[in-house]
Amino acid sequence: MSEEKLRQEITDICHLVYRKGYVASTDGNVSVRLYDGNVMCTPTRCNKGFVKPSDLVVIDMHGNKVRGERKQSSEMAMHLQIYRMRPEIQAVVHAHPAAATAFAAAGLPLNKALISEVVLAVGCIPLAQYGTPGTPELTEELRPYISGHDALLMSNHGVVTYGKTLEDAFNLMDTVEHFAKISIYTKILGRERLLSPDDVEKLWVQRQKYFGLDESEAQRKDPLCPMTDGVSETISLTRGELIDLIERVVSNIK
Ligand SMILES: [Zn+2]
Repeated sequence: MSEEKLRQEITDICHLVYRKGYVASTDGNVSVRLYDGNVMCTPTRCNKGFVKPSDLVVIDMHGNKVRGERKQSSEMAMHLQIYRMRPEIQAVVHAHPAAATAFAAAGLPLNKALISEVVLAVGCIPLAQYGTPGTPELTEELRPYISGHDALLMSNHGVVTYGKTLEDAFNLMDTVEHFAKISIYTKILGRERLLSPDDVEKLWVQRQKYFGLDESEAQRKDPLCPMTDGVSETISLTRGELIDLIERVVSNIK
């Protein structure tokens, strides 16, 4: 795709990210890898709802500006780290969608096998530890998860997703946020019925066929973010969840 078309496509995705409420004010950033190995990205301090194709900046893989009027986003080190570690990735979207960011702020990964389509499309969405935005600290905390996942929660910050096209990267952001909302609704309802290990296993097989992945890619059984299925539900309760449960039981006895 030509640079001009990609310029328009980034702009369209930015407007969509803003319309969907996945960012506020000047939050978030979007980039694509260009045919010459450089990266085109959104500028710093720019509202994604109003960004224009001419605002975009081209940088090299070291983060130096190659062309463009404005200054590149301060989060580009994170995008470049993803492009370096995943040669097949062509686009990165970073945003702060409210429900998924609430999980990131609560210190919770989105790792429960609650919805078949999410297991199929994304698998576990791990939570990377906190790192100050715009510093190597953030990039280092994401590093252990980049190879095994296409969507990451960033503690006390937001979400980053990436794919072979901008649309793929955006779709993942959409899926993560939708799943986060469903997860919160199940908490409000007071119960979660997880898929069984057998069901999850069948979805992994389907995932392999659907995406044409080899077995290691399809499995995505990252020890850093194991998928919580029906069997491990009882041991996956956090301390806070346990206290909450005990309080509910005690108040019922009274
Ligand atoms: Zn951010």
